[in-house]
Amino acid sequence: MKKPFVTLEQLKEITKKYPTPFHIYDEKGIRENARRLKEAFAWNSGFKEYFAVKATPNPFILKILQEEGCGADCSSMTELMLSEAIGFSGNDIMFSSNATPAEEFIKAREMNGTINLDDFTHIDFLEKVAGIPETISCRYNPGGVFKISTDIMDNPGEAKFGFTKEQMVEGFKILKSKGVKNFGIHSFLASNTVSNEYYPTLARVLFELAVELKEKTGADIKFINLSGGIGIPYMPDQEPNDIMVIGEGVRKTFEEVLVPAGMGEVSIFTELGRYMLAPYGHLVATAIHEKHIHKEYIGLDASAVNLMRPAMYGAYHHITVMGKEDGPCDHKYDITGSLCENNDKFAVDRMLPKIDMGDFLVIHDTGAHGFAMGYNYNGKLRSSELLLKEDGSVQLIRRAETPKDYFATFDFCDILKNIKY
Ligand SMILES: *Cc1c(COP(=O)(O)O)cnc(C)c1O
Repeated sequence: MKKPFVTLEQLKEITKKYPTPFHIYDEKGIRENARRLKEAFAWNSGFKEYFAVKATPNPFILKILQEEGCGADCSSMTELMLSEAIGFSGNDIMFSSNATPAEEFIKAREMNGTINLDDFTHIDFLEKVAGIPETISCRYNPGGVFKISTDIMDNPGEAKFGFTKEQMVEGFKILKSKGVKNFGIHSFLASNTVSNEYYPTLARVLFELAVELKEKTGADIKFINLSGGIGIPYMPDQEPNDIMVIGEGVRKTFEEVLVPAGMGEVSIFTELGRYMLAPYGHLVATAIHEKHIHKEYIGLDASAVNLMRPAMYGAYHHITVMGKEDGPCDHKYDITGSLCENNDKFAVDRMLPKIDMGDFLVIHDTGAHGFAMGYNYNGKLRSSELLLKEDGSVQLIRRAETPKDYFATFDFCDILKNIKY
């Protein structure tokens, strides 16, 4: 069963100061999980997790991860700026972008971050706009279909990312001739995998590629980046990943493939987002309307702008009606927001305890790709973000937007001068 990391009593206290809706994060859970990941890969002396900033771009969260030894994986100018402000630099920064604007390559070079090139033609582009650094990584796309089991399948052949095998070989030769000394390999082949097999399977693909690249190009491969993709059990009956088993699976493959090839010094990097944060965030909302037509609806003060995954992917997010955790789930509801869009539903035909107006609903697993995917459609404002600290206190880590924020990009516009805030 999924249990919220806050109690009803805590929420009653918190909402006196910070009204719903808000996202709240669990510092203790984040730290403990980051430590487990580190332990699982402790066998590799160069191991480093570069947190995918896009998953939860909040400076307070990034600071916690930095304290736990993580670096930052950035994909845009503002993510680079955010990471720089927090004090990530050089080896702490991975820049994994695609269709990259020139100014972002320039910024990444200025920060001395590690650039992970998405495309063969970016070699020339990077050289022209920012010069070729001594350390560089290239993203691999094997094409075809990537399959581990019946439920884990993805389609790299349809994905816009990465170099083909031939381009990797050719690219490494060119980069070497242009002075690159340290090479890395990156690949992201399946998303949200709830399986201990994903990383070991991907690792074998990349380790074998590394051996081949070393033989064919003489490149000195310093790191292999397994990227993101380790999933979390959004459904309450799903068996979670065991990170220790995953770390051990990668180690075995490392011993089998890289060590015999004389590549036992290669560092393993990860760029996890979801696995690092998703379970340690809740979206907390209040039931403000009930509607009885052809179905039973509960309307919340949150909507898809606060959490897009259900609307966008039909993703399941578990819901707890606070104070009714042990009640029978004998009511069937659609749980909705207030957008003028019928996909604005956090749950469809969900069996839950009877919901009364004013009940707090905790929507689980929103710590990654939650707030971050928010938007302003229907003139909705972004919510606040709160941090439940290890000592039990609550800190505001992002204030809620106000109408003034919403209209800020019209600050030059006389017509809106008379808006009363
Ligand atoms: C999104 C992304 C990640 C993180 O993915 P998760 O599914 O959150 O682990 C890592 N690397 C790259 C390049 C990404 O685009």
